[in-house]
Amino acid sequence: MKKIMCLLLAVIMAFGSMTVFAAEKGETSLKFRGVDVSSYFAEKNSGVVYRDFSGKALDDDGFFELLKNCGVNSVRVRIWNNPYDSDGNGYGGGNCDIENACKIGSVAAKHNISVFADFHLSDFWCDPEKQKVPKEWQNYSVSEKSDAVYNFVYTGLNKLIDSGAVVKMVQVGNEINNGMCGETDFANVCKLLKSGFSAVQAVDKNILRAVHFTNPEKNGYEWYAGQLDKNGVDYEVFASSYYPYWHGTTQNLTTQLSKVAEKYGKYVLAAETSYPFTSEDSDFFGNTVSGADSGMPYPVNAEGQTQAVSAVFDAVGNVGKKGLGVFYWEPAWITVGTNSYEENLAKWEKFGSGWESSFAGSYCDDGAKYFGGSSWDNQAMFDKNGNPLQSLNVFGNYADVKLGDVDLDGDVTVKDATLVQKDIVKLETLTDFQKKAADINSDGAISVTDATDIQKIVVNLK
Ligand code: CA
Repeated sequence: MKKIMCLLLAVIMAFGSMTVFAAEKGETSLKFRGVDVSSYFAEKNSGVVYRDFSGKALDDDGFFELLKNCGVNSVRVRIWNNPYDSDGNGYGGGNCDIENACKIGSVAAKHNISVFADFHLSDFWCDPEKQKVPKEWQNYSVSEKSDAVYNFVYTGLNKLIDSGAVVKMVQVGNEINNGMCGETDFANVCKLLKSGFSAVQAVDKNILRAVHFTNPEKNGYEWYAGQLDKNGVDYEVFASSYYPYWHGTTQNLTTQLSKVAEKYGKYVLAAETSYPFTSEDSDFFGNTVSGADSGMPYPVNAEGQTQAVSAVFDAVGNVGKKGLGVFYWEPAWITVGTNSYEENLAKWEKFGSGWESSFAGSYCDDGAKYFGGSSWDNQAMFDKNGNPLQSLNVFGNYADVKLGDVDLDGDVTVKDATLVQKDIVKLETLTDFQKKAADINSDGAISVTDATDIQKIVVNLK
């Protein structure tokens, strides 16, 4: 023990500061508290109404303000090259082209929410089973693809930034375990990654560059990181999908990500996670997982969602200071109607609000055999009527609170005191995160005393 103390003293003296040797484990910034809301505008176009905690209908600004008030500070948006057939009919899954990403990014920016851009480099869904090359690039050689990837990422990023979006992070490829953009040879995948990442660098050197893999339970991340290193791929973030009912324990997630963080010095991130709040399907199209499935590790309700997401935040946080954060996948992908399959189908086809439309048949591998609605409505953080679930508050648990700053704009002003008064008379409902900021006297309740204390701060009496 004495020897250790001497060593510690030597370290302190050598660096002159306690902060230098703060424990790496357990210390984390968890900078990103995100949601993927790629399907948002397809949902809105289909007539979906989202509400706040008091039941009030929200416009686009209101929706992103609600996300912010729940502690969300980033949105992930998937970008497909051209998710339309030759007649201009959308493939579905939100018809997520670059214009959709710009619309989301620009309104998010107004509420201090940044963008994590997810370039699939395909015209539709990408995962370990599907990595189809975009239609326009189908006869390209690897080197032609490499140029095309550079141009697509460079142009897309500039469009996003021009729209007002604040892009903090970009991933090139989505769940690329078995390939990307029609390439299955990993050396070729690396060529395309390097090309995409150099486009990101050319646009803005401050944007984090991410690779994205899945299946942490297969324990292969160290191998992938080694291959990327060997092939000279320069990037900052190694991101993983983590779905608790498929991907092993959160302890193993920490172990797998730690290996990459420690050996290769990369930041790590859970780019996708989710959990069901109900077993019920609300849109007449079956769901990917049911609460009735075996092996569900948490209760299937909103509290279970909170537990599930908290466990992922903690797992990434336990990596240490390289743990960057967590993004929840599609918390707003709810039903477009509660009357009938036929009514909903018409909307899915017209607005792309289902997971796949019949028009995707000419492009996607399943020939649009299983086209239809949302397979995710029971994993949303809104109920079938658009009311937010308590689980949406989970993000605020991982954010710093500035006491008195109830509207979370960084300053304590008279507006904050007014918000507290409105909450007391039930004209507004503060989120849990806002309540933490409002509870100046820390008595666990929001009262007139808090409102008065905030006013005192404003006039410098406190
Ligand atoms: Ca469904």
